[in-house]
Amino acid sequence: MKQKTDVLIVGAGAAGLMCGALTAASGKSVLIVDHANKAGKKILMSGGGRCNFTNYDITPDRYLSHNPHFCKSALNRYTQWDFIGLVDKHGIPWHEKKDGQLFCDNKSSDVLEMLLDECARAGASIQLKTSIEAIEVSDSGSFLVQTSSGVYVADKLVIATGGPSIPTLGASGFGYQVARQFGLKVYEPVAALVPFVLTSQLKQMSTVLSGNACRVEVSCSGRSFTDDMLFTHRGLSGPAMLQISSYWQPGQTLSIDLLPEINASEQLRTDQHKTPKQRLKTWLGQHLSQKISEQWLPVMGFDPEATLAVLNGRQMDDMANALHQWQVKPAGTEGYRTAEVALGGVDTDELSSRTMETKRVPGLYFIGEVMDVTGHLGGFNFQWAWSSAWAAAQSLKEG
Ligand SMILES: Cc1cc2nc3c(=O)[nH]c(=O)nc-3n(C[C@H](O)[C@H](O)[C@H](O)COP(=O)(O)OP(=O)(O)OC[C@H]3O[C@@H](n4cnc5c(N)ncnc54)[C@H](O)[C@@H]3O)c2cc1C
Repeated sequence: MKQKTDVLIVGAGAAGLMCGALTAASGKSVLIVDHANKAGKKILMSGGGRCNFTNYDITPDRYLSHNPHFCKSALNRYTQWDFIGLVDKHGIPWHEKKDGQLFCDNKSSDVLEMLLDECARAGASIQLKTSIEAIEVSDSGSFLVQTSSGVYVADKLVIATGGPSIPTLGASGFGYQVARQFGLKVYEPVAALVPFVLTSQLKQMSTVLSGNACRVEVSCSGRSFTDDMLFTHRGLSGPAMLQISSYWQPGQTLSIDLLPEINASEQLRTDQHKTPKQRLKTWLGQHLSQKISEQWLPVMGFDPEATLAVLNGRQMDDMANALHQWQVKPAGTEGYRTAEVALGGVDTDELSSRTMETKRVPGLYFIGEVMDVTGHLGGFNFQWAWSSAWAAAQSLKEG
């Protein structure tokens, strides 16, 4: 038997739950289906368990897309302040960690429970462990959706299945498959906000330094980020590396300034006069960390035991250059196994920036990460999920 619903949303993640709650509040019947055994798994994992749910400084230049203007309308109409208002309405305690990034004081589950509560109050149904087998459009323009739990007929269909990163959390490329089925263009997804993998000597060094971090400025493809870099068993991670990974392409070299706060050339010359007997490893150790200094110097061909006194002008310049422009060519990234998001997705030219409805297939919507809009690290991806879901809901309520 076919079951009828006004709106069927595929994906009970950040965008799907938000859209479901807002649409059902207008009186529409809404069913949210998800193949996972739990809703909002990425929300639970997010922000190290504290969900970085938005940012004080949401601006379009913090998003990557083949059409950088697309995100503006939704972000302007449902802002970070609107979401903060919702969080406050539910009495969820939160704080700014740094750089405008807003986190829960307690647990990510506060945000998930808030969304589930909004869905329950509005009357949006959620059906888990349900996979989609086929989607067809009937002559009347409604959607016939065959699922593992039966066939549904929906006036509107919303795809909110996110991106393919972290498949163990239920992530899939299903949204791209649906887009292609309807002839919509999809930009090939690429893992982003993802750690780098190194090889040979640099990998050995990273393994030894695993767990150590320092503040750097990393540059690539004309973009720079100043934040922490973390050495891992496989390579480089930490916020600076995750951010630049969204701009890095295979084969490119990263330029890393290990001492962004000082002028190493001047500092070396000053300290050579003041403390000529100081060893290179001690000098660098006070600016980086002793452990990083001891590992990095020999890898770069400098003698950690040499005193400042023995360095001539050219050697000091070489050292300063190496510190300010450490050239690192990653072998690759850790890929979808650990990536926070995927770049690419459904081409925004296929969608209305006001409603997220596809131009070619009336009644079919894409919201959240599945589309070609990817935020920086820092709460920007969740804000896109909230804003795009809100924009779609305004249209779904009317239809
Ligand atoms: C470890 C981690 C930490 C993160 N931390 C942050 C953070 O702190 N701040 C931030 O802004 N962003 C963060 N992100 C990114 C953020 O989680 C995503 O951008 C956001 O969840 C996207 O929302 P969405 O609703 O589009 O997709 P999702 O939240 O991923 O939801 C998609 C849903 O669709 C379901 N689904 C997938 N395929 C199918 C299918 N075939 N059939 C049925 N259902 C399906 C999934 O099970 C899932 O429930 C993090 C991501 C990860 C992986």
